[in-house]
Parts: sequence; C-alpha cells; structure tokens
Amino acid sequence: MGATHRIEQTRIETEIAETMNPAVSGKTSNSNATAPLVRTLGIIGGGQLAKMTAIAAAQLGCRIVVLERSADCPAASVAAQTLVGDLNDLDALLRLAGMVEVVTLENEFVNPDVLARVEQAGHAVWPTASTMRLVQDKLIQKETLLQAGLPVPRFAPAPTLEAALAAAAQFGWPVVLKRRKLGYDGKGNATARSAAELESSWAYLDGLKNPLYVEEFCPFRTELAVIVTRSRTGEAVVYPVTETINRNHICNITKTPAPVPRDTAQKVVELAQRAADAINMVGSMGLELFWREDGTVLINEIAPRVHNTGHYTIEACECSQFENHVRAVLGWPLGSPAMRAPAAVMVNLLGHAEGIGTPFGLTQALSVPGAHVHIYGKTRTSPGRKMGHVTALGQTLDEALALAQRAANCIRFGQPE
Ligand code: ADP
Repeated sequence: MGATHRIEQTRIETEIAETMNPAVSGKTSNSNATAPLVRTLGIIGGGQLAKMTAIAAAQLGCRIVVLERSADCPAASVAAQTLVGDLNDLDALLRLAGMVEVVTLENEFVNPDVLARVEQAGHAVWPTASTMRLVQDKLIQKETLLQAGLPVPRFAPAPTLEAALAAAAQFGWPVVLKRRKLGYDGKGNATARSAAELESSWAYLDGLKNPLYVEEFCPFRTELAVIVTRSRTGEAVVYPVTETINRNHICNITKTPAPVPRDTAQKVVELAQRAADAINMVGSMGLELFWREDGTVLINEIAPRVHNTGHYTIEACECSQFENHVRAVLGWPLGSPAMRAPAAVMVNLLGHAEGIGTPFGLTQALSVPGAHVHIYGKTRTSPGRKMGHVTALGQTLDEALALAQRAANCIRFGQPE
C-alpha cells in the first residue's frame, strides 16, 4: 500500500469513527450521549499481545485500531485498521487516539511523557501515563513495590561501577546487573560472580550510556507468575498462580495451577492485588516471582500489560486475560478467572533459526487432538523469537504437558528460504 493511499484510508476511517462514535469527535448524540454504537479501542503496538487482545475485543463487538511500525504486524490481521507510525511519535499517538474511545498498550516501552501529552489532549489512556512511569524504569518499579511494603530482592542504583561494586559488597556475590529500561527476555541483564565479572558486565551493558541498577542474586526453587486484572474502579480479579519454566531467560513453558502449597498460592494472589493497587493499574498485568527454598516469595518484576504467562487463560479460564483487559479498559464488569479444567500447560513456539515466519509442521501439530495451536503471523523469525504457542488442558499437569509438547514438537520456525 502506498503512503498516499494509507493517509487517505486513515482520513476515511477517521470519518467513519466520528459517525459511529460520538466520543471520538466530541459531538454528542441526541439519543444517548454516553453509549456509543460501536466501542472502539486503540492499541499502541501490533504484536501478538495486541492481536490476542484484538481477537477478544472483536468478539465483544469492538472495533480495533492498532499503531505499529510496520503494516504487516501480527495484529493487522484482526484489527479494523492499522496505522503505521512510531510508537513514541506524539502525532501518530494523537491520530490513533482521535479514532478511538480508549487507548491501551501492548508493551511498557512507550515514553510516559508522550503518553501524558495524549492524556492532556483529552484522551482516555489505560493504563495511564503515571502507571507507566512507575513501571517502565525498573529501578523506580522496585522502589514503588518496596514502598508499598511488597517483598522484592535487595537492590541499589548503579550510576557508576563503584556504586555497583559497593552494592555487591553489601549484598554478597553473585549479583545481577540490570538495565533500568527497555530490557526483556533477559536482554539487558548480566550475572556477576566477582568484581572482575561485574566490571565486564558493566562494560557489556554499557553502564555509561544505559542507566543500570544492581540486585542481589536470589536462588529460587521455581519461578512463578500470576495475572491480575484491575478495573477502573479498583476491583481486581486474580488468575490461578502459574509455574514458569524459562530457557535462556525466555519463557518456555507455563504450568497452571503451579504445584505450590495453598498458602504460597494465596500469598501470591495477595501480592498481585497489592502490586496492581500500588501502581494504580487498569487492565491486565503480569507479575513474575521467585519461590525460594524457605517457602517465601519475592517479586522479580511486573509488566503492566497482558503477559506471556497468561496465554493459557484463553482456553483454560472462563474469561481470558485478554477479554478481561478489554473489559477493564472499557469500564465493563470483569469476568471470572476460574479455570475450566484441573490443569493447563502452555508451550511457547520459539524461532529456531533466521528465516521466514511460516510454521513448518503445522498440519501435524493440528492433528494432535486437544492441542490449541496459536500462530502469531510474524513475517520473519529468528532464534528465540516468540512465534506462537500451544496450550493443552488436562486432568493433570503431566497429561496437559504431554499433549502440548507433542503438538509443539511438530512445529519449526526457521527453515532455509
Ligand atoms: P527480563 O525483564 O529481561 O525478562 P528479568 O529481570 O525478568 O529480565 O530476568 C530474567 C530472568 O533472569 C528471570 O526470569 C530469572 O530467571 C533471572 N533473574 C533475574 N533477576 C534475578 C535475581 N535477582 N536472582 C536470580 N535470578 C534472576
């Protein structure tokens, strides 16, 4: 599609949005000013999280517009329209906001100052710019959680290598050096076992260019995760606790409910609720936690968005994390997070090698009864890139795991072109 055509399409779509939705144009309808005919939702970002949110929203009769850097992003196959633009470009965000009733986000990387400008222009953004400000910088996030009385690993700012070394002397080795911003899937972290390693980690993460902080290393029994959805009025629903198995810092498998004692699960649920309150979250968010040998839990990090560890909720729960996110940001009642089966396992489909995004072996995977296969529709793959996932339900975690794994093993992303 040429640029002129795209602009024209945008103008036409804006007009359509104005006719259908009084909230977009600021015009009031005579019949019912508070009930637009079509609920419209804008998503900043067009990846797999936006796609699955858009599917849930479309099911509820909503019209979705996404903003993404490229027109062939995963969510484009579901959205009513895809705007092409930079996610931090104020004009692009205002264009998106002007076409919809509510704007939401699929990742935490959008500049909160730019988001605040969108809010100041009179648009509804959920979660808000101030929520994003508390989460995006992981040092501020940890401080926010600590101030709310929530358990986190010991941490300290590391504006200089000397500050990082001083913190390590206090915490003991090893320590984890982390970028304060833009880290994901372990990119932006380095574990150091000695002063020499800390020095090379500092150089590797480029501490002069990228603000860093340092954390005590927490040996854990397993990693846990949980999804909580919080409404605009502060009610929250918390999903069952999940065990996550990571490979190379990337989520590989989730098992729900996590095989942990009842009081541990209850504690995690309580922490999820309190964390969502602490950042005044609106929508679905994910918490990642360490379950330690002594039975206690620490919050590793929170993500103010739908989360990979909650993909199982699509098939396994009465109302998925995606549907509940849509309900929350549009001000609708939240749905039940209760599971529909005793156990659910999700296996991520990660790219094997550089190549086109076509899945090989899909037909074999689809021949596994009871395996729910999701392909995100990315045009390119690379090693470790999240290309899809498989969820299976069962009477036991072992049964669900065997089923999900059987289907996942059939699929390969990254074949020679
Ligand atoms: P990202 O946001 O890039 O995923 P995380 O901070 O969640 O980075 O870290 C990725 C993984 O590294 C975690 O899932 C965990 O396995 C390990 N990790 C992170 N911080 C610590 C820590 N303080 N102690 C032990 N392991 C850690």
